[in-house]
Amino acid sequence: MKDYNEILKEIAVAIEPLRHVGHQADYIPALAKVNPDRFGMCITSTDGTVTAYGDMEERFSIQSVTKVFSLSMSLSLKGERLWSRVGKEPSGAAFNSLIQLELDRGIPRNPFINAGAIVLADVLMSELDDPLDDYLSFVREIAADKSIDYNREVASSEREKGYINAAIANMLKYYGNLDNDIEDVLRFYFLQCSIEMNCRQLSKAFLPFANRKTDFIFNDIRLTSSQVKRINAIMQTCGFYNDAGEYSYLVGLPGKSGVGGGIGAIYPGRYAVATWSPRLNEKGNSVMGMKALELLTTYTHESIF
Ligand code: GLU
Repeated sequence: MKDYNEILKEIAVAIEPLRHVGHQADYIPALAKVNPDRFGMCITSTDGTVTAYGDMEERFSIQSVTKVFSLSMSLSLKGERLWSRVGKEPSGAAFNSLIQLELDRGIPRNPFINAGAIVLADVLMSELDDPLDDYLSFVREIAADKSIDYNREVASSEREKGYINAAIANMLKYYGNLDNDIEDVLRFYFLQCSIEMNCRQLSKAFLPFANRKTDFIFNDIRLTSSQVKRINAIMQTCGFYNDAGEYSYLVGLPGKSGVGGGIGAIYPGRYAVATWSPRLNEKGNSVMGMKALELLTTYTHESIF
């Protein structure tokens, strides 16, 4: 068994020169207030061992990482019928591209770009009795932590400036791919993105995707082992926006990033890992986080490839 403790320390030294590289997301005003010079990392192994480094107890806005939870719930509730509303191809375009959605006539390329996740929010609004409560209880259950919550200030700050997401929702409605009221769907989507976790909680929440020997049952949400495999495949091909190829090349672990600077990733059968560092590259992915994961698979010689 690798000594992840030693490896995390080596990674921390190696990535230190990147501490001030990149810019934090500031198009969501509340995120612009976060100290950008943070770095935290946590590995939760399938045997329950937790190995952490740096600012791993500080909570951050998980943003698009939440799309993995939305997909899990939607796939559990709709099964294969989900794919008539959203595709599963890498987008090769920015996470908030309007042009692509128009070319695809309102069927988002995949569930991990904004348009795809807004469709999932719509699906969940139609399927769940109490979407806001049910969503949060699923996330709390999968992370085994009842203290996890929405950050309503971040959500309303995003709504205030969320012009592109509003345009995406309008275009989805125009093409008949949104059943509920546009404003209600956006409110739900922004709240999902505003969920806060620290690295320890996020790695715990990703563990069920790494550990396919244990049944995936959280509240009423159940996924077969085959469905979990497929979610991991979509993380691998679509989890890093138009940086997904580069991320696969460098890291080689299914994962999902968010503009809050968080990343959740898994090594099947072995561990789930979370990193957080707010400074992003030009594609919207955490600079230190991506490098840390690249070094993790390099130093451990463990990756899915
Ligand atoms: N709430 C963000 C948005 O919709 C999520 C984007 C992301 O993390 O990629 O713009």
